[in-house]
Amino acid sequence: MGNVNRERPYFVGNWKMNKAFSDLEQFITSIKSADCNQWIAPQTVQLHSMKEMTKNHGPLKIGSQNHSHELSGAFTGETSIEQIQELNLDFAIVGHSERRQLFNETDETINKKLRLSCERQINTILCLGETLDQREENITFDVIANQIKKALLNVTSEMFSQVLIAYEPVWAIGTGKTATPSQAQEVHEYIRSTMRELYGDVSNNTPILYGGSVKPSNARELMGMKDIDGALIGGASLASNDYNAICKNGL
Ligand code: PEP
Repeated sequence: MGNVNRERPYFVGNWKMNKAFSDLEQFITSIKSADCNQWIAPQTVQLHSMKEMTKNHGPLKIGSQNHSHELSGAFTGETSIEQIQELNLDFAIVGHSERRQLFNETDETINKKLRLSCERQINTILCLGETLDQREENITFDVIANQIKKALLNVTSEMFSQVLIAYEPVWAIGTGKTATPSQAQEVHEYIRSTMRELYGDVSNNTPILYGGSVKPSNARELMGMKDIDGALIGGASLASNDYNAICKNGL
């Protein structure tokens, strides 16, 4: 999709393992076009249908929740980046905390996934975030710096210009607890300064999304912060009226 920029906010719905095929059309047709990037990541088996159904109408761009760190071969149950590319998907998500925690993904495998998608000019959302224990130990910034540096190892500036960051404190995902706007802004500012050390001015264009219990009622306040350029939305992206309201309130 080309290089990313911070001109318009990004509202990215992560549907996780939810929704049936019979739900897709109703969702797509009830989406209202707004002055933002409206992206949805459905389950892998629905990617082809979603891409076809949104091709000629509506504002939605479609991307994957995960892909393999290997290119091809004997990896039962995995999805290759070449298939993501062949479907002409608009973006890929890597490193979601559920992948890290439940499927034992490491910074090293996340780095491989990110390089595979960026090498194919697929905009890639890299998810980062600390656990509650890490926040309480006051090591949030160290955790974030470590995740960024390891995930971006051997990622060139050209590749990095395709990357978006999603800061998602693990304690705020699916819990109803949202980071306060100033808690989120503090970490976003830190992420931007870390990226500036690594990539200089290129990082001025890198969108940093916030994720963790974003809903219509808190979108405006969060999006009002200087370094918050959009949101990665789980639960509230499943209902089209909530997703529409976030896109409207977050502008
Ligand atoms: C997520 O899964 O990325 C997420 C932020 O979920 P929720 O909005 O439900 O907290």
